[in-house]
Amino acid sequence: MKHSSKGPYVLALDCGTTGNRAIVFDSHQRIRATSYREFTQHYPRPGWVEHDPEEIWRTVLRVARQALSQVATSRVQGIGITNQRETVVLWNKKTGKPVCPAVVWQDRRTGSVCEALKKKGLEKKVHEKTGLFLDPYFSATKIQWLLHHHKQIKKGLHNGTILCGTIDTWIMWKLSGGRCFSTDPTNASRTLLYNIKRHAWDDSLLKLFDVPRKALAEVRPSSGFHGMTLKKWFGKEIPIAGVAGDQQAAAFAQGCSPQGIVKNTYGTGLFVVADTGRHLKISERLVTTVAACEGTETRYALEGSIFIGGAAIQWLRDGLKILKNASFSEKMARSLDSNDHVYFVPGLAGLGCPHWDPKARGTLVGLTRQTRREHLVRAALEAMAYQTRDVLDLVKKEMRFPVKRLRVEGGAVKNDFLMQSQADILGCEVERPVAHETTALGAAALAGLATGVWQS
Ligand code: ADP
Repeated sequence: MKHSSKGPYVLALDCGTTGNRAIVFDSHQRIRATSYREFTQHYPRPGWVEHDPEEIWRTVLRVARQALSQVATSRVQGIGITNQRETVVLWNKKTGKPVCPAVVWQDRRTGSVCEALKKKGLEKKVHEKTGLFLDPYFSATKIQWLLHHHKQIKKGLHNGTILCGTIDTWIMWKLSGGRCFSTDPTNASRTLLYNIKRHAWDDSLLKLFDVPRKALAEVRPSSGFHGMTLKKWFGKEIPIAGVAGDQQAAAFAQGCSPQGIVKNTYGTGLFVVADTGRHLKISERLVTTVAACEGTETRYALEGSIFIGGAAIQWLRDGLKILKNASFSEKMARSLDSNDHVYFVPGLAGLGCPHWDPKARGTLVGLTRQTRREHLVRAALEAMAYQTRDVLDLVKKEMRFPVKRLRVEGGAVKNDFLMQSQADILGCEVERPVAHETTALGAAALAGLATGVWQS
C-alpha cells in the first residue's frame, strides 16, 4: 500500500548484532514502513563470535528494498545508518569481497593480547587518548589478531589492497559501489585507534596495533553527507547523510542531556549512556565515547557497556532450552513470589563495565533442591537490572548528579517484570518510549537534519 500523505521521508538502516532492520520515517517521525531480518551468528570456538559480512550486506539490501517497496521511493531524501559497533570487516578493495569473517564485538579471542599490553603498562596511555580500556571488546586487537594470523591479510592491509572498517563503513562502501569509504566519530571512537581529543586516527596507536592508516576510512560528521547509493539498488541515487553507532544513535533520539537523563538499552548487551556535553570526562571504569550530534562540534558521553543482557535469555532459550521464547520469560518470573535468593552473574563473555574482566565466567548462586527453571529465568532478568544498577552507581559518582530518569529501549523493554524490577532496584523512574525504534529514529534524525527534512 502506498501512503498518500505529503512530505519527505528518511530511510533508517539499523544494522544490529542479531538482525538488520529498515524503517521509513515520514517528516513527523512516524513509521511508514518497516522490514526486519535476522542473520546467522557463528560461534566457531569458545569465546569466538563471527558474522558473515556478505550475509549482513545481503540482508541490509533486502530489508531496505522491502521497506522502500511500501512507500513512494521518490520521497526518500536521505539514508541514516546505525550499526553494531566495534565489529570489524576486512575486504578486498578491487573485488569487494570480504577476506575473512567479521570479528564481532562480543568476540573474546584477543584476551591474552590485551593482557600482554596491560603488563607492558600501556593501558593508561591508550585510555587517555581513546577513553577506552584494553579489552577484547574494542576493534583494534581484533584487526591486529587477523593480520598476525593471516600473512595475506597483513600484506593486503599494508599494500592498500585490503580495506578495513566497522559495519557502517562496510555497508556504505557496498551501497555506494566502492565510492564511499567513510565512518563517523561515534564509530571511530570505539576502535582504540581514534584520538578523541584530537579527533583523528592516532599515529602512535596505529603503530602499536600495527594497523596502516591507508586501510582505514575517512572520519566525517555523524550528521552530514557521506556518499550516494548506486542507482541500481533503489531505483534512484539517495544520499547517505547520517551515521552513528547504535548506542549513540539511541541516546541522540532519547534526548539524553547532561541534566540527569540517562539511557539504557536492553538488547543482546546492556548499554548505559550519559551525555556529558562538550566536557570530556575520563573515568576509571566507564568508557568515554564520542556522542552523536548535529553539526561539527564534538560532544562526549560516559558509557557503561555490559556484555550480556538479553543474551542470557537467548542462552536459556537456545542453549539450555528451558525457555520457549524470550517473552515467555515474564510469565515464568512472575510465577514465583520471590527469587528465593537465586542469583546469576552473567559472565558468559567475561564481564564488561564496571569489572572489565575478560576471564570472568558465569556463576549461579543460591541453588537448592527447590530450585526450578523459573528461578534461573527470573535470575537472568534480575541480573540485567542489577548490572544496570552497578553501572548507574558509577555514573552518579562520576557525574555528581542524581539520575532523575532512566530512559530505556531495546528488545527486552517489552518485559514489564524486568522494567518494574529495574525501577525498584534503582529507586528511580524508568521511562519506556511510545515508539520502540529509538535507535533507528536516531539515525533517521541525523540524516534528516543533514538533508533539511528537519530544521532542529
Ligand atoms: P540487538 O539489537 O542487540 O540485536 P534487540 O534490541 O533486538 O537486540 O533485543 C533482542 C534481545 O532482547 C535478545 O537478546 C532477546 O533475548 C531479548 N528479549 C526480547 N524480548 C524479550 C522479553 N520479552 N523479555 C526479555 N528479553 C527479551
